[in-house]
Order: sequence, then C-alpha cells, then structure tokens
Amino acid sequence: MRRLEAAEARQPADLPGSLQPGLTFVEYGPNIRTMKHPLNPLARQPLLPRHALWNEFLERLAGPEACNFRNDQWTCFGDLRFTQRLLRDMGMDEHSIEVSVAYLEDHGGYCDCEVVFNLGPRR
Ligand SMILES: [Zn+2]
Repeated sequence: MRRLEAAEARQPADLPGSLQPGLTFVEYGPNIRTMKHPLNPLARQPLLPRHALWNEFLERLAGPEACNFRNDQWTCFGDLRFTQRLLRDMGMDEHSIEVSVAYLEDHGGYCDCEVVFNLGPRR
C-alpha cells in the first residue's frame, strides 16, 4: 500500500499547465541584453589626458567598480586589468587600448592604482 502511494507520487498523472504551447521561455529571449558595448565614437582615439573621456576614466578607475579607493585602502592587482577593462567598457578598440596603456606606463602608471596616483588630478 505504501509502495503504491510512493510510485504515484513520483509519476503524477497530470501536470496542469506545464507544457502549454506559447509559454516557452524562448519568448523572454529578446529582453536579455548582451554584454558587448558598441564602439563609442569618443573612444576612437587613445585615451590621453586631453581626451574627452579622460576624467570619466579616472573617476571610474578610482571608484567602486575598479580600485575602489576609500580612506587608505584600495584594490589593485599590480597590473592594469581595471584600466583595460574600463577602456574596453568605454568602447575603445584594442589598438587604442594598447596605445593608452603604453602612455600610462610611460608616465608611471604601471598598475591601476599608480595610474590614479601618478596621472590623476593633483590634490
Ligand atoms: Zn597598484
């Protein structure tokens, strides 16, 4: 008797609504946005201090999405991963990113926090 009940529980005769046509998840697909960013016309040139996006770049690099400066603590991996990610995120192409990174390194920015320290606004 108990066994029979268990078998019935495992194989319910009816699952109302579960396979109704027109309720597939495919319909929700178009709402999903891809992570790919369109190339930003402002980012056609390497990001140098006179660039229109320079200040935005430095702010974001020091902010919570990257180095996250707060008091005397911050995040840095000793490389330029945040810098490269931000530049890519801002729509810059790979060649411009390379040129930007070369410029930053040439001015003492060998890692993300050094870019903020050495190329950021003087206080
Ligand atoms: Zn650093």
